[in-house]
Amino acid sequence: MGRKLDLSGLTDDEAEHVLKVVQRDMKLRKKEEERLSEMKQELAEEGSRCSILSKQHRFNEHCCIRCCAPFTFLFNPKRQCLDCQFNVCKTCCTYSKRDRAWLCSACQKGRLRKPWLRG
Ligand SMILES: [Zn+2]
Ligand SMILES: [Zn+2]
Repeated sequence: MGRKLDLSGLTDDEAEHVLKVVQRDMKLRKKEEERLSEMKQELAEEGSRCSILSKQHRFNEHCCIRCCAPFTFLFNPKRQCLDCQFNVCKTCCTYSKRDRAWLCSACQKGRLRKPWLRG
């Protein structure tokens, strides 16, 4: 017989105890790994402008990017600006017949300042 872990020689109570110790050890190790990966993730998020933007987009799912008014299904439906792709409320955008799309106030002003971009 080798010296491998053999639980058959233990009583039920002893075997259970050994199993519990092993399980607790595994759990602790898993927790530590999770904690480390969370920390890594946080650090990566801090440094990346992309994630900040994506958060802004998430915010933008519910609120107008220009005036921060919350969208409501009936009274303040969200519309996506053709140029910046952000969601804006109806008071912050105008319909461009030429583009057949909505333009937010900021992008509309931007277009007026660049007349060469207009058709
Ligand atoms: Zn708005
Ligand atoms: Zn826009």
